[in-house]
Amino acid sequence: MPTTENVIIIWWGPAGHTAAIYTARALLQPLLFEGFMAGGMPPGGQLTTTTEIENFPGFPEEISGLALMNKMKEQSKKYGTRIETKTIDKVDLSQHPFKLFAGTEEFHAKTLILAMGASAKRLRLPGENKFWQRGISACATCDGGLPLYRNQRLVVVGGGDVALEEALFLSNFGSEIIMLVRRDVFRASKAMQEKVLKNQKIHIMRNTEAIECLGDTTLQSIKIKNNTSGEESLLECKGLFYAIGHHPNTEIVQGQITLDTDRYIITEPGTGKTNIPWVFAAGDVQDKKYRQAITSAGSGAIAALEVERFLEA
Ligand code: NDP
Repeated sequence: MPTTENVIIIWWGPAGHTAAIYTARALLQPLLFEGFMAGGMPPGGQLTTTTEIENFPGFPEEISGLALMNKMKEQSKKYGTRIETKTIDKVDLSQHPFKLFAGTEEFHAKTLILAMGASAKRLRLPGENKFWQRGISACATCDGGLPLYRNQRLVVVGGGDVALEEALFLSNFGSEIIMLVRRDVFRASKAMQEKVLKNQKIHIMRNTEAIECLGDTTLQSIKIKNNTSGEESLLECKGLFYAIGHHPNTEIVQGQITLDTDRYIITEPGTGKTNIPWVFAAGDVQDKKYRQAITSAGSGAIAALEVERFLEA
């Protein structure tokens, strides 16, 4: 029979680690499952795929997403969090203590903090699977520096902050960066737009979408379509990077916990409480609006404080 843990935290991003730091300092001996490429992401979640972070308070000199996550991990370990590099692939919330499974291994918990984050969306174009990681990627920060992309024309799809950030990052490696924006306006912040518009290597194609990926062993070109004129054309490129948003990693709790229409976990504002007592959610898995490292961390702290209260009561 597995030991019943006070609190199990699923996945490490800013929400998971902040919850771990708080519950560890409250002497609850949290157990955190960071997952092994869970949701297709390395431990640390989406933040590890961000380049420089300029808006996390306390780092006036900027800090890379990976460095920030490593610092958070170090801090939660320092206060006694136990970290397991296993992916929780099944949970049973129908009985208390809750049951969690990583393959055949079983874990029990009095309280749970769900902080599984969100993963990058894909376009699912014809040819996409064939060239996935052979010219197509959903993470320029992870893959953009590869030799395959050096001094080549690269395409970024999306008009949000991430797309602009990725285009700027890729401009360090590619010969030309083309951004495909499906509307005639960006969704990104004005500050990011200014940076991109000033960059000589980046060119914007508005009202344009990718519709097919072509090549031999690696991507060589994409078919694009102007969605106002309907005109289709071929665009030669060696790299296609998706930056079109994310979906929440809620598969393991689907059907057991209340989700919204986009499958984000519904929480009681300001508490992290889900519809199941003793189960809390924090970070992007329950926030499709703000999705910042700092708001994620804040929600991790709130969930941890609520867990502490629940256990005391
Ligand atoms: P967003 O939802 O902000 O933007 C997604 C973009 O992808 C939009 O331009 C959207 O177009 C486009 N898109 C979506 N689906 C498709 C599709 N099928 N085909 C073509 N284009 C598509 O997501 P981001 O990932 O960019 O950002 C997420 C959050 O993280 C945001 O709140 C952002 O502000 C934040 N962020 C903040 C940073 C910072 O503060 N430093 C850095 C990076 C991100 P449309 O607009 O037409 O819907």
